[in-house]
Amino acid sequence: MINLTAIEKSFGDLPVLKGVDLVVPRGGVTALIGPSGGGKSTLLRCINLLELPTSGTVEVGECRIEFRPGRKVNQKAVRELRRQTGMVFQNFQLFPHQTAVANVMEGLLTVLKWPKDRAHARAIELLDKVGLAHKADAWPSSLSGGQQQRVAIARALAPEPKVLLCDEPTSALDPELSGEVVAVLAQLAEEGTTMVMATHDLRLARQIAHDVVFLEAGKVVEAGQASQIFEKPSQARTVQFISTLT
Ligand code: ADP
Ligand code: MG
Repeated sequence: MINLTAIEKSFGDLPVLKGVDLVVPRGGVTALIGPSGGGKSTLLRCINLLELPTSGTVEVGECRIEFRPGRKVNQKAVRELRRQTGMVFQNFQLFPHQTAVANVMEGLLTVLKWPKDRAHARAIELLDKVGLAHKADAWPSSLSGGQQQRVAIARALAPEPKVLLCDEPTSALDPELSGEVVAVLAQLAEEGTTMVMATHDLRLARQIAHDVVFLEAGKVVEAGQASQIFEKPSQARTVQFISTLT
């Protein structure tokens, strides 16, 4: 479902991704772990093309785009690929002046041009899925962090993306509230949602991820099945890093 090949990304003179490969099969759940500044967020943003790779190939579902320095980017192809993805951020990033249900409807109305009643029905269905149908008319500021993140997940899923990308989805939450977000993501994983998540949350990674990629200084240090990486990592650096997670 996701196939990244030889992704390089520089910001000006600063190389941030130095040739990263990533394969996530349909229904696969991959956790990106690694120290801050290692390039996890940048890699996620190169999957949905919020950042355009300097070079390399990005494939999501049926969409495939090759990036080469100096080559012109086909904006239509970028928009098309982007639509295959949904993204959840550390700080929820809900629209503060819209109710929960309006947040979930937003992309359906503005991007997909759905009629209002259809978008509303879909949004309520998704809020129900994350356990928040009763909060449909609540303002984001009246919701807990865990509830806000669940609304953000519903919003990301509304246009039926092929993959869900999560950037530190529980990092802004205390353990109790992060538990409810982990539960929602676990349910999505069980239903076969293809996901890539950057996380420092060992519980999230251990409970949900099928595969783990350890990214440091823009390179994959080690990648493999979650059980193998957590129980029997082959690189000393991986052992050391995992011991710092809580
Ligand atoms: P992580 O998510 O693993 O903490 P990031 O992908 O956020 O890592 O950052 C990797 C490196 O890229 C850092 O050195 C960061 O400062 C740099 N970086 C990220 N985004 C930008 C940007 N828009 N402009 C310049 N440098 C950036
Ligand atoms: Mg990050």
